[in-house]
Amino acid sequence: MNRRTKIIASIGPASDDEATLKDMIEAGMDVARINLSHGTLEDGLERYRRIRAVSESANKNVAILADLPGPKVRLGEFAEKRLLSPGDELFLTPGEGPSTEEVITVDYETLLSDMVEGDKLIVGDGSVVMRVIGSTGDKLQVRIEYGGSVQGKPGLHIPSERLKISTPTREDLRLLDAFVSAGIDMVGLSFVRSAHDVRRVGTEPAPRGPLVVAKIETKAAVENLDGIILAAGAVMVARGDLGAECSLHELPHLQKDIIARCIALGRPAITATQMLESMVTAPAPTRAEASDVANAVFDGTSAVMLSAETAVGVDPANVVSTMAAIAQRADENFDYEGWAHHIKRDRLIEPQSVDAAVTDVMTMATWRAAMEMGVKAIFCISRSGFTVRAIARFRPKAPILAFSPEERTVRQLAMSWGATAIKIDRIESNDESVRNVLRIARDEGYVRSGDIVAVLGGSTATIGATDTLRMVRCP
Ligand code: PEP
Repeated sequence: MNRRTKIIASIGPASDDEATLKDMIEAGMDVARINLSHGTLEDGLERYRRIRAVSESANKNVAILADLPGPKVRLGEFAEKRLLSPGDELFLTPGEGPSTEEVITVDYETLLSDMVEGDKLIVGDGSVVMRVIGSTGDKLQVRIEYGGSVQGKPGLHIPSERLKISTPTREDLRLLDAFVSAGIDMVGLSFVRSAHDVRRVGTEPAPRGPLVVAKIETKAAVENLDGIILAAGAVMVARGDLGAECSLHELPHLQKDIIARCIALGRPAITATQMLESMVTAPAPTRAEASDVANAVFDGTSAVMLSAETAVGVDPANVVSTMAAIAQRADENFDYEGWAHHIKRDRLIEPQSVDAAVTDVMTMATWRAAMEMGVKAIFCISRSGFTVRAIARFRPKAPILAFSPEERTVRQLAMSWGATAIKIDRIESNDESVRNVLRIARDEGYVRSGDIVAVLGGSTATIGATDTLRMVRCP
């Protein structure tokens, strides 16, 4: 069985050169993530152009996700690595300058008025934990609870209920504009708290605009989950910040619940952060990390994401191939029937949308027919990718071949569970389209003459009209 779970890899200094990018694509990278929390807009755009050029010359369908920083708070630069030990008492002050031995600067203007005694502040993805113990004039006094070393300009997690800035920030919208003009496939929205935050992105609906990936990393987002999922194109379980917002023993359960909800609503779900963290420096993952990736697959995740492992790690291509091997093996052991029965029972459709209701029942019928007939593949002719994501909800065992005339849909489907997306020239009448996709699939070796396939598409060539299922023997 080919791998069904998709792989997202963050691109950074360790993976910027063309040879490494090519190796990562060969190793199985489906989506390249540009984390805009680091570097300038021009750095990000240059990275974008390089990834596009390498994937095009490798002739591989790789999507690009620009991850907007959101109201990310950072500590002022540490000139050199510094150890913060448990029990140390320090001062934080709002400002843009570098941190000094005595005072750590924080680029958050209202730090003093927003924080109260007892608040917990977390540096990076949990390497250092501080507790606010008071304030004196223009400084906040903190005590280190868990110590560790800090360097560069680490992020500071401020509890989201205290944070006064909302997402997308003015800077996010500036970055968004530039990447939309460049033709970006997906954008990540950080620190989402409500569906309104997602709607404020304001881009054209996919595929004319990018797929908006709502990052679930605040308590408010967990509380407003359904509205956020419905407003977004996909969701990321951003375990770094989410793990700082909630108790760590809750995190695995939140991951399961968010993924299940997301798939029930027909949106891809991404599991992110520290999946193979030890491979930043090591050639192989820990046993726990291998299990984490496999368990995310068993939870129903559509994609698994690499962050520092590929952005600054020692061997990005090795990390991608390690993740690909673990995910593929987990895909083989996935409980396909159990999952489909659970989706059949708990699936949710968008209220007041007849097209969505038709797609819902047609994709369910397709899953059932495909399973009972043991088809070789499910073909899905789709303009926006909506139908492909809807059939993927059921996790059919047969491969999904998605055919679309929209280049951006083809790339956006790189993140969709189980889908291999193929560009076609146009969607014609149903008869002609079926003949066309059968010919392409046979010529490209996906199916052979005599194979039975299920073909799902529309009786007309318009969007949102997935109303025809045909069971066809490949000529
Ligand atoms: C996270 O918090 O887990 C995450 C993916 O977001 P970022 O890398 O932007 O902190």
